Amino acid sequence: MTKKSMHIGLDDTDSPRKGCTTYVAALLVEKLQRLGAEFIDYPNLVRLNPNAPWKTRGNGALCLRVQYNESDEQQIKQTVISTVEEHADLQCKGTNPGIVFFESATIPRKVETFSKNAITGIVSLSEAFKLLKNVGAEAVGFKKCRGIIGGLAAIGETFQRDCTFEILVYRIPENRGSKRRVDKASIVEMDKATAPYTFNNIDWEEERGLITPRGPDPILLGIRGESPDIVRKAFEIVKPLEPVERWVIFRTNQGTDAHLKLVKQLSQIKPYNPVIAKGTVAANPKIIPRRHVIFSIKDESAQVDCAAYEPTGFLRRVARKLIVGDYVEVSGAVRVPSQEHPSTINLEKIRILRLAPKIVYQNPLCPKCEKRLKSMGKNKGFRCEKCRSRYTDLGKIEIRVKREIKKGLYITSPRSQRHLTKPFRRYGLEKLQTSSKELIENWHFP
Ligand code: ATP
Repeated sequence: MTKKSMHIGLDDTDSPRKGCTTYVAALLVEKLQRLGAEFIDYPNLVRLNPNAPWKTRGNGALCLRVQYNESDEQQIKQTVISTVEEHADLQCKGTNPGIVFFESATIPRKVETFSKNAITGIVSLSEAFKLLKNVGAEAVGFKKCRGIIGGLAAIGETFQRDCTFEILVYRIPENRGSKRRVDKASIVEMDKATAPYTFNNIDWEEERGLITPRGPDPILLGIRGESPDIVRKAFEIVKPLEPVERWVIFRTNQGTDAHLKLVKQLSQIKPYNPVIAKGTVAANPKIIPRRHVIFSIKDESAQVDCAAYEPTGFLRRVARKLIVGDYVEVSGAVRVPSQEHPSTINLEKIRILRLAPKIVYQNPLCPKCEKRLKSMGKNKGFRCEKCRSRYTDLGKIEIRVKREIKKGLYITSPRSQRHLTKPFRRYGLEKLQTSSKELIENWHFP
């Protein structure tokens, strides 16, 4: 019997107090396989625009891609709907789950474009409904149905440019909400054994493990890396000190910079959009309360503020040392302007393209005794305190001081990186043209 293919998109099942859509997907891996469905790719964890105002945490949407016998179709769909119903926090006002079923062997270009727009900008529910109709996909929505946007966007991410993998490990229900217990030394050992093919395991600046999230969700830990094999190997090294309910390897767009879109001119930046923009530093950095650093850049079209917040650590220290005239490329999300603040780019990265000379002016030396002269006031000349000579024809001397920063790329510290931010470790490891390949044997448990 020939098999049919279906892409199942899911989103918006969780709330700040419980749940996680990746967990619903992990449950469905077990359930759908029991129904005879065969996974044609790892479950996809697609991070959408990190600045979308409706997100709960990391704006993750999920897609399961399966092949199945036509006779199982209704049962597969029913299982997906009832699992979402059972595990979504429907009482929470902001939780509006959505499920999309798309029966097709291939993904139309329009759905890929919709996905790209949801990752780099803002899309509307009416656009999603139009597209569903246009491509003949089916959707099930709860309450305001907003999750249908994420469900469709997850289906449309085909990872043509780059992708990474994450093994997500889940806690047993009785432990959820309590402090996560994982042996710290084993995280360090894992990082050393798998570098550079895993990333963001540890923030060395604060010596803090990053694989365990905070909050009440069911995730015990997540390890990110370049291949399914490496994340599974990494998990074999890490020692959880509490029982594990299940684990699944996901294909993701995390750590790929997929959210950043180049704008040609500063006048083109729009609120909520993550951008890459170039400009000349137009005002020296200032430190505002809570130790955030703000500077502005300009081009021929506009001037815009850039902010490096305190938790960006390393990036903030670099931002402080910029001066007027430096030419930079900045990456980050555009914050909505308010009455107090203009549109501001919240920085994730700064690439210093050109450093302006830093000049300081000093009083000249006394031509007779070589002591540094004292100024007698603006345009009034200089006098020597030692030999008492006066000079009205000497001017200040220009001194070029060594800059404390170099040209190059600077990225926010790992603890404040967005899920989508490409970390240093991944530069040079990008995968072009990622097509679905055969899955490794053990990619999930149970
Ligand atoms: P978690 O990462 O913990 O699963 P979350 O941060 O993904 O939670 P959701 O609960 O999924 O947050 O809520 C995000 C909502 O915003 C979803 O309904 C999704 O469809 C919608 N959404 C996501 N990206 C966009 C976008 N670019 N434009 C419009 N709506 C979006």
